[in-house]
Amino acid sequence: MTAPVIDGWFTVDDGTAHLLGTRCSDCRTVYFPPQTGFCRNPHCDGEDLAGTRLSRRGTVWSYTNACYPPPAPFVTAEPYTPVTLAAVELAEEGIVVLGQVKDLTVEDLRVGMELELTWGPLADGPPVWMWGRP
Ligand SMILES: [Zn+2]
Repeated sequence: MTAPVIDGWFTVDDGTAHLLGTRCSDCRTVYFPPQTGFCRNPHCDGEDLAGTRLSRRGTVWSYTNACYPPPAPFVTAEPYTPVTLAAVELAEEGIVVLGQVKDLTVEDLRVGMELELTWGPLADGPPVWMWGRP
């Protein structure tokens, strides 16, 4: 596989995509994108943030059609092809991760439906994480 679109935010192992976050060793709070330095939990003095793989399933929190190209740093194909975007709440971590949706349109999506992490080329370029049918 070629290098991911953003180094250090996700990886593909044997064809399976994983989001890469960090977890505070003290309060166990999980961050995505990965945080370094110190824990942002105001009730925690933790400074040890260890790399962790996030869970791969969640439920749709919101979704939309991107009929116009999103602003940079989002990479788009020329000419622009509208994409579907979904904000998915990870069941285990409770955090919401935005991503392009693969092989589904807004007509297929409902708030609360389960999606699974997958990946695909971003605008025919480098691989990026996407949300798809479990
Ligand atoms: Zn903490």
